[in-house]
Amino acid sequence: FHERGWILKRSELSSERIALIDIHSEESWTYGELRNRILRWASFFYDKGYEKGERVAVYSPNCPELFAVLFACEQLGLLYVPLNWRLSAVELQGLLDDCEPALVLYHEEFKQFVHKLEIKEAVSLSVIQTVENSLVWSSVSIGTCSDPWMIIYTGGTTGVPKGVVLSHEAVNWNALNTITSWGLSEKDTTINYMPLFHTGGLNALGIPLLMAGGTVAIGHQFDPEEALIATGKYEATISLFVPTMYQMMIQTDYFKHFNFPSMDTFLSGGAPCPETVYRAFREKNLRFKEGYGMTEAGPNNFFIRPDDAATKNGSVGKSMLFNEIKVLDAEGNPCTRGEIGELFLKGPHMFSYYWNKPGETADALHDGWLRTGDLAKIDEDGDTYIVGRKKDMIISGGENVYPQEVEQCLITFDGIREAAVVGQRDEVWGEKVIAFVSLQDESATTDSIMAHCKKTLASYKIPKEIIVLPELPKTHVGKIDKNELVKLN
Ligand code: ATP
Ligand code: MG
Repeated sequence: FHERGWILKRSELSSERIALIDIHSEESWTYGELRNRILRWASFFYDKGYEKGERVAVYSPNCPELFAVLFACEQLGLLYVPLNWRLSAVELQGLLDDCEPALVLYHEEFKQFVHKLEIKEAVSLSVIQTVENSLVWSSVSIGTCSDPWMIIYTGGTTGVPKGVVLSHEAVNWNALNTITSWGLSEKDTTINYMPLFHTGGLNALGIPLLMAGGTVAIGHQFDPEEALIATGKYEATISLFVPTMYQMMIQTDYFKHFNFPSMDTFLSGGAPCPETVYRAFREKNLRFKEGYGMTEAGPNNFFIRPDDAATKNGSVGKSMLFNEIKVLDAEGNPCTRGEIGELFLKGPHMFSYYWNKPGETADALHDGWLRTGDLAKIDEDGDTYIVGRKKDMIISGGENVYPQEVEQCLITFDGIREAAVVGQRDEVWGEKVIAFVSLQDESATTDSIMAHCKKTLASYKIPKEIIVLPELPKTHVGKIDKNELVKLN
């Protein structure tokens, strides 16, 4: 990689091309402007006297400036820490106490809130308007590729978010893997409504596409119709959304009437994608692919060949170029084809460690292999299927029940909008299967849902109870929050 990060080289090569667009304000930056902003932020950090290894946190909704800050941190060896602005003050203070930033850069929108927090120093992102590029900073030694570049907190689906430390090397290898395997180029444009404080907004497609010289159009706050209109307006070629976002999009009139001529691939990731979403896109002859990602793992490890997109329903595809995948049984032996076991990943794009959590790091990393905590199986062709989280697996009457399979069965029933399955302690069965659903309309009754399950599922997988809620609780990144559901029960 280029000694001061590829992005400065890229921004010289493509200086006239559009790098970033703010969908809300319609403002756009060329690569030349991005470069200028990066150099000014680097000057600002240098003048403030921050040293290599210190943390610079950002507290802001999605906006182009965040990429300038991120790449300026790369120049000086500072650690970029994007904070989840959806957290409560108490939760956020927890993260701040964990990463102890020297500086929090905040968006003007959040000014009032930031002043309630205990922070060493807080400065508005708009400060950059008065900063010139001094270039003195370019003499700073940036260290080696294995030094940390960012701390990205995990989604917090299973507990308190963990700070995932990613090195320069890991971020670059993830980008390289993604560019080569997904075939990204400077001709590509993405619509990015995934939060930039989460790996899904940052490393899944955002950074890789900028390194490839493409255009990243950033959405502020997700709105299904606005996202689809932007897809047409900016002639997007590839975009990533979480399943919940897709479910909202396919309900809009815009989706029903527009054919997305520029679009090559819609990608879903972060959580299992309901079959109803796949179908809605396939009926329009659009290429729709499921991706699997994990903050600790780059996040990208798989890709689907264009020809396989229509035939391999539910598969996340094959291993990317520079990584290794294995699935092991409970004894640590390799699973046979089709057998379900725990997924392990290895490659130069893996995280270095969890910030302040040596115990968790030791549990997750062995000899460079990441234990994902997810269950998967690999078929005869080498295509991988994600089965669900290991800790979500239900053992009922001695039989393994994978919630995702039951959820897919439920979601294909007309009238069900969302479904989530959890285990509940039970004296007879050890655990019993409980389903939570939200409904599209009144057509579905618990009796008719139960009858549908009995027709499709083995008896031990059939929910013992179906609970209807107006809407299922979600985490801050839009995944269904099963911890909340368990508490409700
Ligand atoms: P935390 O680690 O804090 O509990 P999290 O695991 O949700 O939160 P992320 O790193 O954002 O944090 O999410 C990665 C996880 O999301 C994976 O480990 C997996 O469980 C789930 N996931 C991602 N993609 C898919 C997919 N296509 N199908 C099923 N699950 C998926
Ligand atoms: Mg996780």
